[in-house]
Amino acid sequence: MPRYVEDPNKLNARARGLLEELREKGTLKMKERLAIPVQKPPVLDPGERSRWQEEVEKPLTPAQAVLESMRCIQCKNPACVKGCPVAIDIPEFLRLTAEGDFAAAIEVIKRTSLLPAICGRVCPQERQCQMDCAVGKSLKDVGLAVAIGKVERFLADWQRNQAQAPIPRVKPPSGRKVAVIGSGPAGLVVAADCRREGHQVTLFEAFHKLGGVLRYGIPEFRLPKEVVDAEIDLLRRMGVEFRTNFVVGRTRKLLDLMDKDGYDAVFIGSGAGLPVFTGMPGEDLVGVFSANEYLTRANMMGAIHPGRTDTPMFSSRRTVVLGGGNVAMDACRMAQRLGAEEVIVLYRRGRDEMPARAEEVEHAIEEGIEIRFLENAVAVLGDGSGRVRAVTVQRYALGEPDASGRRRPVPIEGDTYELPADAVLVAIGNNSNPLLTSTTPGLEVNARGNIVVDSETGRTSLERVYAGGDIVLGAATVILAMGEGRRAARSINEMLAREAIEEAADAPRSHAAPTTHWAPGRLRWRRRAHAGRRGS
Ligand SMILES: Cc1cc2nc3c(=O)[nH]c(=O)nc-3n(C[C@H](O)[C@H](O)[C@H](O)COP(=O)(O)OP(=O)(O)OC[C@H]3O[C@@H](n4cnc5c(N)ncnc54)[C@H](O)[C@@H]3O)c2cc1C
Ligand code: SF4
Repeated sequence: MPRYVEDPNKLNARARGLLEELREKGTLKMKERLAIPVQKPPVLDPGERSRWQEEVEKPLTPAQAVLESMRCIQCKNPACVKGCPVAIDIPEFLRLTAEGDFAAAIEVIKRTSLLPAICGRVCPQERQCQMDCAVGKSLKDVGLAVAIGKVERFLADWQRNQAQAPIPRVKPPSGRKVAVIGSGPAGLVVAADCRREGHQVTLFEAFHKLGGVLRYGIPEFRLPKEVVDAEIDLLRRMGVEFRTNFVVGRTRKLLDLMDKDGYDAVFIGSGAGLPVFTGMPGEDLVGVFSANEYLTRANMMGAIHPGRTDTPMFSSRRTVVLGGGNVAMDACRMAQRLGAEEVIVLYRRGRDEMPARAEEVEHAIEEGIEIRFLENAVAVLGDGSGRVRAVTVQRYALGEPDASGRRRPVPIEGDTYELPADAVLVAIGNNSNPLLTSTTPGLEVNARGNIVVDSETGRTSLERVYAGGDIVLGAATVILAMGEGRRAARSINEMLAREAIEEAADAPRSHAAPTTHWAPGRLRWRRRAHAGRRGS
């Protein structure tokens, strides 16, 4: 039986007691709503969990979810919706949850967001929907805002545990084919939205497993893979075809998917999986890894189960992690779980500037990770046999804000020290892999290698080719990737519907094709005429 920070039964009993009291009062006044305490989900004891892969935070109990939703004051002009990148009708799903109608509440979320079990767990809510929540503002603490993400997660888990999730309605076959490249959140959303319109959808994934960063990057202790599997299974049941170990650009060129394989549209959601290194001396020593590679070995290649796989994993006693984002937090917590006795994060700005989710930073610190702010490694030192022995650490002060709005770290001259370590995990950012863009003539990319798209439609410089997610935004977030996917899928569906109507109108009356059907020869001809050309 795992130990919790606070006994889940007690949390539940307290919530039920309060709920009964409030129900007796009838309709609540605003003051009474503001007085309801924030509902804290059951969390595993940090001493134990820091060596396990088990998910750290459990869902709210039903009574807690109802209570938490009752804290919402149902604003007429809700700031939470404005803060949500996909504009979920948050007050409405909270209202339904407060009434105990969980089935209706989750349907409200699913109208807009396909992956609530994932977003509820990993979205940086404190910087999105919860940031300007009226309750948090009234109580003068963003930490006291309505815990929208926790209620979202509760509802999604509740639905998953009820029975097999209902399959979304798929329209009759349209005769159109859509290729989706990459199975991260952007690709999954496009696959679902295009399949719903009756198009034949094939999703191509370079790895042997599906899910993108949700699979290979974010660890089990934060996002159990059964949650990702359930979402993918739903797409499979909708009829999406998956082809893994398929690297578009190598296994097959992108334009060949259209010209030779008959796809009518392609969506690129290939992410930003190429790690960035610092270029400091000693980065080539044995014991230096990109955090992405480290996490991929652990999460996707099974190194978290020693003995069950033959994936080699570097074992270290003292690991230094460089960076302050989600990747750094996942890497440091994973290093500890894989046996490091001491893990130190070096971040060259202050805590307020850290891009990681606030909760992950708190959890890391609770688990005994040391974060040294205003410090960074400027060299990795070897032991004479090619292995890491230490890093040279530079101290910083905060200067004026830079282009990102965060205060710039300024090195304090001469203020350095040596920090002994036997492993260094570099988590300072990711770029997009140039394989696909370099093998697709006419596909416009910017100076950072991200694909340039039309901001209204998600269309690239090539006709019929759309893109979204990290490959467009640079390393961003799950919800932003999903939002981009949604937009591109809408454009693809509109384009294909328009063409179907045009073809039906063009067809000779006696052989008029049904509007949902495709005249393949004609469309192929059109596509050949456009392939490789830059769009207008
Ligand atoms: C360790 C880590 C932790 C993170 N934590 C959070 C978090 O807590 N909250 C949050 O919101 N965001 C987080 N992020 C960021 C978030 O996961 C990404 O922004 C999001 O996954 C991007 O989605 P995507 O669909 O664009 O790409 P990805 O998820 O990167 O998926 C792209 C997929 O495309 C495949 N692919 C690439 N090239 C090809 C090709 N040529 N052919 C076929 N397939 C290809 C890749 O193998 C990959 O599976 C984290 C990122 C990392 C790395
Ligand atoms: S801003 Fe906060 S209080 Fe207002 S509707 Fe949204 S969740 Fe409710």
